[in-house]
Amino acid sequence: MTFRQQPLADLDEQQWEALCDGCGLCCMHKFQDEDSGEMFYTNVACHLFDAASCRCTDYARRRQRVPDCMHIRTFTPEQFAWLPVSCAYRLRFEGRPLPDWHPLCSGDRESVHAAGISMRHACVSECEVPEDERAAHILLHIGEDSHEG
Ligand code: SF4
Ligand code: SF4
Repeated sequence: MTFRQQPLADLDEQQWEALCDGCGLCCMHKFQDEDSGEMFYTNVACHLFDAASCRCTDYARRRQRVPDCMHIRTFTPEQFAWLPVSCAYRLRFEGRPLPDWHPLCSGDRESVHAAGISMRHACVSECEVPEDERAAHILLHIGEDSHEG
């Protein structure tokens, strides 16, 4: 069994970080349906997100700088449903395999972008979108079928 098949709780820090596919979806603003709890992602990015590299520009200090930044390692079981359906942590939490486009499967960090899963060059900064306009940026599809690979 490789670490990508191990339970999340068994992963060391390096393995945990490697599990992230680099899609950037969790760095987008989200809305939660108050009744169903369902999460809707937008293409409005956190101000620390760099759309060209699809990465956080201050990953080491992300949680000091952005209090809302997700801390997946401390999630309760219920909170995993906040993640995109394509997110590797959600897939592994649910006991599902990683898709073929995941860099750990493909051996290529570009494959997540080639698969159309990522937010690279596909988002706008929160600095450019007033809060009351962000709901208009909800993404209708965020890789629903992507976990079938
Ligand atoms: S949504 Fe999941 S896989 Fe994608 S960048 Fe965030 S933590 Fe990584
Ligand atoms: S602080 Fe960094 S990791 Fe956290 S949401 Fe913003 S861009 Fe993403």
